[in-house]
Amino acid sequence: MSTLRFHAIKESLAYKPIIVEEKERRSDLFGKHVFNESTMRQYLTKDAFKGVTNAIEYGKKIDRSIADQVASSMKDWALSKGVTHYTHWFQPLTGATAEKHDAFFETIGDGIAIEKFGGTQLVQQEPDASSFPSGGIRNTFEARGYTAWDPTSPAFIYGTTLCIPTIFVAYTGEALDYKTPLLRALHAVDDAATAICKYFDKNVKKVSSSLGWEQEYFLVDKMLAASRPDISLTGRTLLGHSPAKGQQLDDHYFGSIPSRALNFMRELETECMLLGIPVKTRHNEVAPNQFELAPIYEEANLAVDHNSLLMDIMGRVASRHNFKVLLHEKPFEGINGSGKHNNWSLSTDTGVNLLGPGKTPMSNLQFLTFFINTIKAVHEHEALLRAAIASAGNDHRLGANEAPPAIISVFIGEQLTKVLEELEGVTKGKLSPQEKTELKLNVVGKIPDVLLDNTDRNRTSPFAFTGNKFEFRAVGSTANCGSPMTILNTIVAKQLRDFKIEVDALIDKKDLKKDEAIFNVLREYIKSTKNILFEGNGYDKAWEEEAKKRGLSNNKTTPEALKAKVSKQTIALFEEMNVMSKIEVEARYEIEIEAYIKHIQIESRVLGDISRNHIVPTAVKYQNILIENVRGLKEIFDKKFNSVSKAQIDLIEEISSHIESINVNVTKMINERKKVNAIKDIEKKALGYCNDVKPLFDDIRYHCDKLELLVDDEIWPLTKYRELLFTR
Ligand code: ADP
Ligand code: MG
Repeated sequence: MSTLRFHAIKESLAYKPIIVEEKERRSDLFGKHVFNESTMRQYLTKDAFKGVTNAIEYGKKIDRSIADQVASSMKDWALSKGVTHYTHWFQPLTGATAEKHDAFFETIGDGIAIEKFGGTQLVQQEPDASSFPSGGIRNTFEARGYTAWDPTSPAFIYGTTLCIPTIFVAYTGEALDYKTPLLRALHAVDDAATAICKYFDKNVKKVSSSLGWEQEYFLVDKMLAASRPDISLTGRTLLGHSPAKGQQLDDHYFGSIPSRALNFMRELETECMLLGIPVKTRHNEVAPNQFELAPIYEEANLAVDHNSLLMDIMGRVASRHNFKVLLHEKPFEGINGSGKHNNWSLSTDTGVNLLGPGKTPMSNLQFLTFFINTIKAVHEHEALLRAAIASAGNDHRLGANEAPPAIISVFIGEQLTKVLEELEGVTKGKLSPQEKTELKLNVVGKIPDVLLDNTDRNRTSPFAFTGNKFEFRAVGSTANCGSPMTILNTIVAKQLRDFKIEVDALIDKKDLKKDEAIFNVLREYIKSTKNILFEGNGYDKAWEEEAKKRGLSNNKTTPEALKAKVSKQTIALFEEMNVMSKIEVEARYEIEIEAYIKHIQIESRVLGDISRNHIVPTAVKYQNILIENVRGLKEIFDKKFNSVSKAQIDLIEEISSHIESINVNVTKMINERKKVNAIKDIEKKALGYCNDVKPLFDDIRYHCDKLELLVDDEIWPLTKYRELLFTR
C-alpha cells in the first residue's frame, strides 16, 4: 500500500473543524493593531500628528524631530500591546513580503537595558539586500539596499512585531520593490487628474486612486497537500487525472461554506479586522474547494499593502486549521483557476468618484472625461497592460476558456456604447446653443440613469466597466497588485496629461469654451479607440481573429508578453511620468524573465522526478502483479488460458506502452532542458523553456494520468484529485 498517500488520507479524515468563536464585534476589532488615525491622535503630540497627516495627504517631508516623536509614541503604543520587536516591512520583487526583526531591547552599559526606538530606526533600515532580486542594478560589492518609511501606509502589529511599511531602494536610488514605482504612479495620476478636475471644480486638491481586489484561492487539506511533491514545490499539481465529478454540477459556487473552511475564514477575517483590512465578502467559488475573499475598496497603496499582507497571513491561519492555501493561478487541470480582479477607480478629496455618475450635467461630463480617457489609455497601451499581468502561472488561465483572454479589450455595456455613439456626432469646433442644451439634457444628462441600471455583465472581458469603476479581471491570483496598479495608473496619468494639453490648445488657439473643447477632444478619442471596445464573448475563437484584424496584440505566453515592458514606448512613458527610469524598467524585465525561466525549470524537474521515480516504478509493480497472475492462470488453465488471460495481457501491454512513452518524453525533456540551459541570452532561454521544454509536460502528464486509471488504487502513490478536491 502506498504509505504516504493513505497515511495522509487517514489523518485528513480525522480532522475536526477548529471552532472559532467571535466574541467581539468586528467593528470593535477593526484596526486595533494598527497605528491609525485614532491611535495617533491618542499617542502623538499635536505637531507630530500634523506632520504625519501632512505627509499622508500632501506628501510633505517629515523632519527628524517629528520622526523621533512619532517613533517614541509608536514604541509606547506597541509595548503596551506586548510587542518586543520592530521590522521594516517591504515587498521586494520576489513576490513575497520581507521583514527583518530587531528587538526594541538595547543595553546602555553597566548591565542596564532599555527599550529603544528612535526616528532613525523608524525612517530607515539597511537590510542585507544582496539576496533580493535587483535585475543587475546592484553589483554585489555595492549590495546595499535601504528601506524607508512610507507614512501613507500605517504601521501595524503582527504577532509580537511592530511592522513599518517601507519602500525598498538600492544604494544608488533605484527601486527594488513594488511599492516605490506604485507611489510614483499614484503621484503622477494625482497630478494629472487633479488638473483635469479643475476644469469642473476649482476646489479639488487631490485625486486618489482606489483599489478593491477580489482574492480567489483554493483550500487543500494540509496533509494531503504535503503528500504531493508537486504541490509542495510548485504550488500546483503537475499531474493527476480528473475526478469523475469536478465542477460540472455547479454545486459548489455560492453553496454553503463547508465547516472547516468557514472556521478558517472566521479566524482569517478576525486577523484582518485587527490589522485594519476591511474584508467584507466571502463565498465558495466555481471549482470544488475554491473560495473568494473581497474587502471594501481602499486607497490603492494601502489596498496593495493589505493584499500582500493578506496573502502572507492566509497561509499562517490556514496552517492552524490544517489547510494549505493554494494561491496559484491554476492548481488543478480541468477545473477553474484563480484570479484576482482589481476593481479600480479615481476619486477626489471632495468626495467625488470620477468614474461614477454625478448630479449635474457638468459632473457627468467629468465622468465621461475620465471614462473615455481610461478607454483611450488602455487602447494606447494594451500590450503593456497585458504584460502587467504576465507570469508563468497566469499563462495557464489567460485564454483558457475560463478566464479573460490574452487579448486586452474594454467592455462598457450596451447603454454606454450608445452614449459614445451619440457623442461621436458632436459638431466639430464651436457648438450651437441648441446642440449644447441637447447634449447636456439628453446625452450627458441621461448618464446617471444609464449607470444606475448598468447591469450588463460580461465575465469574459479582461477590463470591464461595472457602473462606478473598471474591473481589471485578468490579474493572477498570486500577483502583487502593485505591478498592475502601477501600470494602470501610469497609463491613465499619461493620457490625462495629453488630454489636458489638447483641450487647452483648443481653448487657447481655437477660442472654444471649456465644455466645447472637451466635447471636441472626446469625440476624436471615441473615433480613434473603437478597436479596443469589445462587447462579445471573449472566449470565442472568432474574437481572436477579429482582434488580429483590429491590430490588437494577443501574446499568449509570458516571454512574448513581457517584451512590451521594455518597448521604446513603455520606457518613454515611465520616464516621462517619473515612475521608473530606463534602468529600473529593464531591471524589472530581467527579473521577471528570470522568474519565468526558474518556474518552468523547477516544474520540469519535479515532473521528471515524479513520473520517473514515483509513477513508473508503481506501474512496473502493478505490471508484475499482473504477470504473476497470468503465470498462475497458465498453471491452472489449459484450453481456456487465452480467453481468461486476455484482459490482463492487454493491460500488461498497455502499461508498457505508457511507461515507454513516459520514458521517451522525460528523456526528451531533460535533453531540451540541457540545451536551453546552455543559452546565455535570457530572452532566448525563456522562449526555449516556453516553446521546447514546457510543451513536453502535456505528453508526460497524459501518459501518467492514463496509468492512474489503470493501476490498482491501493498502490497508487499520489493523492488523487478527488481526495484533494473533496476532502473538507
Ligand atoms: P461585483 O464585482 O460583484 O459587482 P461589487 O460591485 O460589490 O461586486 O464590488 C466588487 C469589488 O469592487 C469590491 O471589492 C468593492 O470594494 C470594489 N469597489 C467598489 N467600488 C469601488 C471603487 N469606486 N473603486 C475601487 N473598487 C471598488
Ligand atoms: Mg467582481
